[in-house]
Amino acid sequence: MKKRVVIIGGGIIGLCTAYYLQKEAAEIIVIDKSDFSSGASYVNAGLITPSHIISLASPGIITKGLQWMFDASSPFYVKPRLNYDFLKWTWLFKKSATSQKVTTSIPVIRDINLLSRRLYEEMISDKSFSFFYKHKGLLMLYKTDKAGEEEWNVGKKAIECGLKVEQISQKQLQEIEPTVNSSVKGAVHYLSDAHMTPHQFMQQMKSFLTAKGVIFKEHTEVEDFEIQSNLVTGVKTNHELIKLDELVVASGSWSQNLLKKLKVNVPIQAGKGYRIDVVNRTKINIPSILLEAKVAVTPMDSVTRFAGTMELGGINHTVNNKRVNAIANAAESYYNEIEINEKEKTSAKCGLRPCSPDGLPYIGRLTKLKNVTVGTGHAMMGWSLGPATGKLITEILNEKKTSMDITPFQVERFS
Ligand SMILES: Cc1cc2nc3c(=O)[nH]c(=O)nc-3n(C[C@H](O)[C@H](O)[C@H](O)COP(=O)(O)OP(=O)(O)OC[C@H]3O[C@@H](n4cnc5c(N)ncnc54)[C@H](O)[C@@H]3O)c2cc1C
Repeated sequence: MKKRVVIIGGGIIGLCTAYYLQKEAAEIIVIDKSDFSSGASYVNAGLITPSHIISLASPGIITKGLQWMFDASSPFYVKPRLNYDFLKWTWLFKKSATSQKVTTSIPVIRDINLLSRRLYEEMISDKSFSFFYKHKGLLMLYKTDKAGEEEWNVGKKAIECGLKVEQISQKQLQEIEPTVNSSVKGAVHYLSDAHMTPHQFMQQMKSFLTAKGVIFKEHTEVEDFEIQSNLVTGVKTNHELIKLDELVVASGSWSQNLLKKLKVNVPIQAGKGYRIDVVNRTKINIPSILLEAKVAVTPMDSVTRFAGTMELGGINHTVNNKRVNAIANAAESYYNEIEINEKEKTSAKCGLRPCSPDGLPYIGRLTKLKNVTVGTGHAMMGWSLGPATGKLITEILNEKKTSMDITPFQVERFS
């Protein structure tokens, strides 16, 4: 008899999990409280990021956060709150932000990123898909020598761990990306990175899975669980009780609240980010990060996307126009001939990155409830790590040897 797997969350993690599970002939139901067209997995910058070897929890970030706390247009913002989960997360984040922990995480982040990039490339060779995927690397553009030096230090670490990275002078930059203006002094080029158009991939993946018999239930919110001894036997939604054999929790920033109903505490804070889309007017060729402004720029197939801001202010989708304007101003100040109009700014969207305190995702089974597997907490790398997470979860469910060591991703590591 086919095992019925219920996946809570139709973001990149949920869909990639469904993709690998359907190959193993499972009966799959993906449940989402939204309509499968919004959320972090639809608004992100689409960067595939082996370059991001330094986790968010790194030395210096707390000082920067404190400096930026009172600046309404800053790229990193923490809203102080007297809330137990937030205070505990902050404490765990501070404990993780040490040089030693960052160094230990580097090979782990590299390996899961490279695995995931390879899996995206495998999907392209499957003729069922025709999604946009380019491998041009990622330019870290800097205007100040300080930012350039800091990034080159990261670049050297990346080279040490086997990635291909080059220092690009202002003159070379003008040759490969002439649209960058003269205030930009140079770049560090991570040749390991690739980029995609997230909403296009999500639509193609959903159509592919539907054709394979995966059931999608939209506007369906999981409110509680049916539990018998050490197994979850069903999810109670706003519409019905859905019975199951295996449960996968891939509900992004909402996962902590949901998992609490299973008596498991998995610290996650939502890191809000914004994107502005400019329809085919830019000549930008290579994806970049504007280092001083912390804005990501992705030339997708139909739009150029400018994305940025990490706002730790709880779960909400309120758009802060000051931060949207700051992203637009940054874009205009690094490139020639870019003007982002009011319509584009007012159409800006936001999404919530599910941030763990140590910058590593949670991937694995719960210890007490034997049929519950979790995939969340990917923060700024969730798009990149979708396929690897889906594959690892499928291997866990099928009790196969996992494609990489998943010990660092233990779900209950902070319990
Ligand atoms: C502006 C921005 C730029 C980014 N850029 C990049 C990038 O370039 N590269 C990269 O790798 N990552 C990037 N990210 C991060 C990446 O988008 C996220 O890490 C990733 O999308 C998280 O995917 P997810 O599937 O875990 O969560 P989500 O996409 O948030 O999906 C979770 C889903 O669960 C559903 N859900 C929650 N609770 C319930 C419930 N109780 N019942 C039913 N459904 C529920 C939600 O409706 C949601 O659709 C960016 C994020 C943002 C915001």
